[in-house]
Amino acid sequence: MLMGEERRALCAYGRRAIESGLVIGTSGNLSVRSGDLVAVTPSGVALDRMTPQDCPVLDIEGYVVSGERQPSSETPMHLAVYAATDATAVVHTHSVFGAVVATTMTELPPIHYNALLLGGTIRVARYATYGTPELAANVMEALAGRQAVLMANHGGVTLGADLETAFEATRLLEWLCEVYVRAKGVGEPRVLTEEELGAVVERALNPQAFPRREPVHGSDVPDIEPGK
Ligand SMILES: [Zn+2]
Repeated sequence: MLMGEERRALCAYGRRAIESGLVIGTSGNLSVRSGDLVAVTPSGVALDRMTPQDCPVLDIEGYVVSGERQPSSETPMHLAVYAATDATAVVHTHSVFGAVVATTMTELPPIHYNALLLGGTIRVARYATYGTPELAANVMEALAGRQAVLMANHGGVTLGADLETAFEATRLLEWLCEVYVRAKGVGEPRVLTEEELGAVVERALNPQAFPRREPVHGSDVPDIEPGK
Protein backbone atom coordinates (compact mmCIF):
# COMPACT_ATOMS: atom_id res chain seq x y z
CA MET A 1 0.00 0.00 0.00
CA LEU A 2 1.33 3.41 -0.99
CA MET A 3 2.50 5.26 2.15
CA GLY A 4 1.29 2.30 4.24
CA GLU A 5 3.34 3.21 7.29
CA GLU A 6 2.17 6.83 7.22
CA ARG A 7 -1.50 5.84 6.75
CA ARG A 8 -1.29 3.43 9.70
CA ALA A 9 0.26 6.25 11.76
CA LEU A 10 -2.66 8.56 10.85
CA CYS A 11 -5.05 5.93 12.26
CA ALA A 12 -3.00 5.54 15.45
CA TYR A 13 -2.85 9.30 16.09
CA GLY A 14 -6.50 9.70 15.08
CA ARG A 15 -7.41 7.28 17.89
CA ARG A 16 -5.15 9.16 20.30
CA ALA A 17 -6.77 12.47 19.32
CA ILE A 18 -10.21 11.07 20.17
CA GLU A 19 -9.08 9.28 23.35
CA SER A 20 -7.37 12.41 24.66
CA GLY A 21 -10.53 14.49 24.10
CA LEU A 22 -8.93 16.79 21.51
CA VAL A 23 -11.31 15.64 18.81
CA ILE A 24 -14.97 14.61 18.80
CA GLY A 25 -15.94 12.41 15.86
CA THR A 26 -14.85 14.01 12.60
CA SER A 27 -13.96 17.46 14.02
CA GLY A 28 -10.27 17.33 13.20
CA ASN A 29 -7.84 16.11 10.58
CA LEU A 30 -4.24 15.00 10.32
CA SER A 31 -1.75 14.59 7.50
CA VAL A 32 1.79 13.38 6.85
CA ARG A 33 4.08 14.23 3.96
CA SER A 34 6.67 11.97 2.40
CA GLY A 35 8.54 13.60 -0.48
CA ASP A 36 5.95 14.86 -2.97
CA LEU A 37 3.10 12.80 -1.48
CA VAL A 38 0.72 13.61 1.36
CA ALA A 39 -1.46 11.08 3.23
CA VAL A 40 -4.45 12.72 4.91
CA THR A 41 -7.42 11.64 7.00
CA PRO A 42 -10.67 11.19 5.02
CA SER A 43 -13.75 13.37 5.02
CA GLY A 44 -16.74 12.14 7.01
CA VAL A 45 -15.11 9.30 8.98
CA ALA A 46 -14.59 9.54 12.75
CA LEU A 47 -10.88 9.65 13.53
CA ASP A 48 -11.08 6.52 15.70
CA ARG A 49 -12.95 4.50 13.06
CA MET A 50 -10.60 4.92 10.08
CA THR A 51 -8.56 2.19 8.45
CA PRO A 52 -5.30 2.93 6.61
CA GLN A 53 -7.14 2.32 3.31
CA ASP A 54 -9.63 5.06 4.25
CA CYS A 55 -6.84 7.66 4.25
CA PRO A 56 -6.30 9.04 0.74
CA VAL A 57 -2.89 9.93 -0.66
CA LEU A 58 -2.50 13.10 -2.75
CA ASP A 59 0.38 14.58 -4.65
CA ILE A 60 1.63 17.97 -3.56
CA GLU A 61 -0.59 19.66 -6.19
CA GLY A 62 -3.73 18.19 -4.64
CA TYR A 63 -4.52 15.32 -7.03
CA VAL A 64 -5.64 12.07 -5.34
CA VAL A 65 -3.30 9.24 -6.30
CA SER A 66 -4.53 6.50 -3.92
CA GLY A 67 -7.62 5.73 -1.84
CA GLU A 68 -11.36 5.72 -2.60
CA ARG A 69 -12.53 8.22 0.02
CA GLN A 70 -12.58 11.99 -0.29
CA PRO A 71 -9.71 13.76 1.50
CA SER A 72 -10.55 15.91 4.52
CA SER A 73 -12.21 19.21 3.56
CA GLU A 74 -9.31 21.01 5.24
CA THR A 75 -6.76 19.44 2.86
CA PRO A 76 -6.05 22.78 1.03
CA MET A 77 -4.80 24.19 4.34
CA HIS A 78 -2.55 21.15 4.94
CA LEU A 79 -1.11 21.43 1.41
CA ALA A 80 -0.50 25.17 1.89
CA VAL A 81 1.54 24.41 5.03
CA TYR A 82 3.64 21.83 3.15
CA ALA A 83 4.18 24.20 0.23
CA ALA A 84 5.56 26.96 2.45
CA THR A 85 7.38 25.11 5.28
CA ASP A 86 9.59 22.06 5.79
CA ALA A 87 6.99 20.45 8.09
CA THR A 88 6.17 16.81 7.42
CA ALA A 89 3.07 16.51 9.63
CA VAL A 90 0.05 18.72 10.34
CA VAL A 91 -2.62 18.26 13.03
CA HIS A 92 -5.87 20.26 13.17
CA THR A 93 -8.52 19.97 15.90
CA HIS A 94 -11.50 21.84 17.34
CA SER A 95 -10.29 21.26 20.91
CA VAL A 96 -12.36 23.08 23.53
CA PHE A 97 -9.96 25.63 25.03
CA GLY A 98 -8.34 26.31 21.65
CA ALA A 99 -11.80 27.09 20.29
CA VAL A 100 -12.57 29.31 23.31
CA VAL A 101 -9.45 31.42 22.72
CA ALA A 102 -10.01 31.43 18.94
CA THR A 103 -13.52 32.88 19.39
CA THR A 104 -12.58 35.62 21.86
CA MET A 105 -9.02 36.79 21.19
CA THR A 106 -6.70 37.88 18.37
CA GLU A 107 -3.65 36.19 19.88
CA LEU A 108 -2.68 33.98 22.83
CA PRO A 109 -0.01 35.89 24.78
CA PRO A 110 2.85 33.94 26.41
CA ILE A 111 1.95 33.66 30.10
CA HIS A 112 3.92 30.41 30.49
CA TYR A 113 7.43 29.84 29.16
CA ASN A 114 6.36 26.58 27.50
CA ALA A 115 4.74 28.80 24.84
CA LEU A 116 8.26 29.20 23.45
CA LEU A 117 8.09 25.57 22.29
CA LEU A 118 5.46 26.74 19.77
CA GLY A 119 7.24 30.00 18.92
CA GLY A 120 5.90 32.35 21.62
CA THR A 121 2.73 34.38 21.09
CA ILE A 122 0.22 32.28 19.12
CA ARG A 123 -1.67 34.32 16.53
CA VAL A 124 -5.34 33.83 15.64
CA ALA A 125 -5.80 33.66 11.86
CA ARG A 126 -8.62 35.80 10.44
CA TYR A 127 -11.93 34.02 9.97
CA ALA A 128 -12.80 32.39 6.66
CA THR A 129 -15.11 29.51 5.73
CA TYR A 130 -13.64 26.09 6.48
CA GLY A 131 -11.89 24.30 3.62
CA THR A 132 -11.41 27.43 1.48
CA PRO A 133 -8.18 28.72 -0.07
CA GLU A 134 -8.90 31.97 1.79
CA LEU A 135 -8.70 30.16 5.15
CA ALA A 136 -5.47 28.45 4.05
CA ALA A 137 -4.00 31.86 3.15
CA ASN A 138 -5.06 33.37 6.50
CA VAL A 139 -3.48 30.44 8.34
CA MET A 140 -0.19 30.85 6.48
CA GLU A 141 -0.14 34.57 7.29
CA ALA A 142 -0.65 33.92 11.03
CA LEU A 143 1.71 30.94 11.14
CA ALA A 144 4.89 32.80 10.15
CA GLY A 145 7.71 31.67 12.46
CA ARG A 146 5.43 29.51 14.61
CA GLN A 147 4.67 25.82 15.10
CA ALA A 148 1.04 26.57 15.91
CA VAL A 149 -1.81 28.85 14.98
CA LEU A 150 -5.44 29.30 16.00
CA MET A 151 -8.16 29.88 13.40
CA ALA A 152 -10.82 32.43 14.42
CA ASN A 153 -14.11 30.83 15.54
CA HIS A 154 -12.76 27.42 14.55
CA GLY A 155 -9.79 25.64 16.21
CA GLY A 156 -6.05 25.04 16.18
CA VAL A 157 -3.39 23.88 13.74
CA THR A 158 0.08 22.60 14.62
CA LEU A 159 2.94 21.27 12.56
CA GLY A 160 6.08 19.28 13.12
CA ALA A 161 8.83 17.13 11.69
CA ASP A 162 6.68 14.05 12.35
CA LEU A 163 3.20 13.16 13.61
CA GLU A 164 4.40 12.68 17.19
CA THR A 165 5.84 16.22 17.26
CA ALA A 166 2.77 17.78 15.61
CA PHE A 167 0.42 15.85 17.92
CA GLU A 168 2.34 16.87 21.06
CA ALA A 169 2.28 20.46 19.79
CA THR A 170 -1.52 20.23 19.60
CA ARG A 171 -1.65 18.90 23.18
CA LEU A 172 0.62 21.74 24.32
CA LEU A 173 -1.43 24.36 22.44
CA GLU A 174 -4.59 23.10 24.14
CA TRP A 175 -2.85 23.14 27.54
CA LEU A 176 -1.63 26.72 27.02
CA CYS A 177 -5.14 27.82 26.02
CA GLU A 178 -6.65 26.08 29.06
CA VAL A 179 -4.14 27.68 31.43
CA TYR A 180 -4.91 31.11 29.95
CA VAL A 181 -8.68 30.68 30.16
CA ARG A 182 -8.55 29.33 33.72
CA ALA A 183 -6.08 32.04 34.80
CA LYS A 184 -8.39 34.66 33.35
CA GLY A 185 -11.12 33.34 35.62
CA VAL A 186 -8.95 34.04 38.68
CA GLY A 187 -7.41 37.37 37.70
CA GLU A 188 -5.55 39.16 34.92
CA PRO A 189 -2.77 36.80 33.72
CA ARG A 190 0.70 38.39 33.74
CA VAL A 191 2.33 38.15 30.31
CA LEU A 192 6.02 37.24 30.26
CA THR A 193 8.27 40.06 29.00
CA GLU A 194 10.61 39.77 26.01
CA GLU A 195 13.51 39.87 28.48
CA GLU A 196 12.08 37.02 30.55
CA LEU A 197 11.45 34.92 27.45
CA GLY A 198 14.97 35.65 26.21
CA ALA A 199 16.36 34.44 29.54
CA VAL A 200 14.42 31.18 29.15
CA VAL A 201 15.96 30.61 25.71
CA GLU A 202 19.40 31.39 27.17
CA ARG A 203 18.78 28.93 30.00
CA ALA A 204 17.64 26.19 27.63
CA LEU A 205 20.74 26.65 25.48
CA ASN A 206 23.03 26.51 28.52
CA PRO A 207 21.60 23.90 30.90
CA GLN A 208 23.10 23.55 34.34
CA ALA A 209 25.77 20.85 34.54
CA PHE A 210 25.42 19.03 37.85
CA PRO A 211 28.73 17.86 39.35
CA ARG A 212 29.12 14.13 39.82
CA ARG A 213 30.74 12.63 42.93
CA GLU A 214 33.54 10.17 42.54
CA PRO A 215 32.21 6.73 43.55
CA VAL A 216 33.33 5.66 47.01
CA HIS A 217 33.20 2.12 48.39
CA GLY A 218 29.61 0.81 48.36
CA SER A 219 28.06 3.93 46.86
CA ASP A 220 27.39 2.28 43.51
CA VAL A 221 25.16 -0.38 45.09
CA PRO A 222 21.55 0.23 43.91
CA ASP A 223 19.08 1.46 46.52
CA ILE A 224 16.78 -1.43 45.78
CA GLU A 225 18.30 -4.83 45.16
CA PRO A 226 16.83 -6.71 42.21
CA GLY A 227 14.16 -9.23 43.21
CA LYS A 228 13.17 -7.53 46.45
ZN1 LIG B 1 -11.81 22.35 11.33
